[in-house]
Amino acid sequence: MSEFKTSWWEPTDRELQWLRRYTSSDMHKCSATGGYCNAKFELGEADILYNKDGYIAGDRDNRKPPASDPRWPKACDACGRSFGDEDPHQLFGKQIYICQATGERSTPDKAPVGACWDAWWISERRKEGPTGSGYLVGPDHRSLVVKLPGNHDWHIDSRASNCTRPDDNEHSCWVRHGRPEDGTLHVDKDGNTCSAGAGSIAVPGFHGFLHHGVLRSC
Ligand SMILES: [Zn+2]
Ligand SMILES: [Zn+2]
Ligand SMILES: [Zn+2]
Repeated sequence: MSEFKTSWWEPTDRELQWLRRYTSSDMHKCSATGGYCNAKFELGEADILYNKDGYIAGDRDNRKPPASDPRWPKACDACGRSFGDEDPHQLFGKQIYICQATGERSTPDKAPVGACWDAWWISERRKEGPTGSGYLVGPDHRSLVVKLPGNHDWHIDSRASNCTRPDDNEHSCWVRHGRPEDGTLHVDKDGNTCSAGAGSIAVPGFHGFLHHGVLRSC
């Protein structure tokens, strides 16, 4: 049995950036991964720029170094194939989050098991109006994600794949109680819910419950 205490993470106004090269052609498949050929060089942190709607500006083309910059990767990380001039030069960024209890900082993809955050890009537009799995927000109008073993992200407020009330948007397939901020986050079937499961979460390599702030395998 494994146990992981949940921790609360909040977004910062900083992002981690990489210089990324990849092959976007549908014709080419990386001989090592079967996907795109891909390589990244970590540049470091920078301020996030937001667009006028408040979202992170994903277009960083006017901020990237020229193609002649020697830091751009030359070859695929997986198979070693050289990139051509026609392959894109992308300045890639991911928002940095901070753990309120420890001060630890991380991008969500590297956050430790048990880390919990609000997927604000979903919940920000749903601060009023209906809640439930069909709207991807819980009773507090947040869209909470918990990091599971195997780097799986559990969107607690989303619809379970085996939901038995797929036409009903206002129930919660997983019912949340408590708050991630104070370690009391608790998920079960006590509330307006469907018949799917018993409030547990199953992903490849992990099946367990989140009770009283602790993720526990079963
Ligand atoms: Zn490759
Ligand atoms: Zn359901
Ligand atoms: Zn189990």
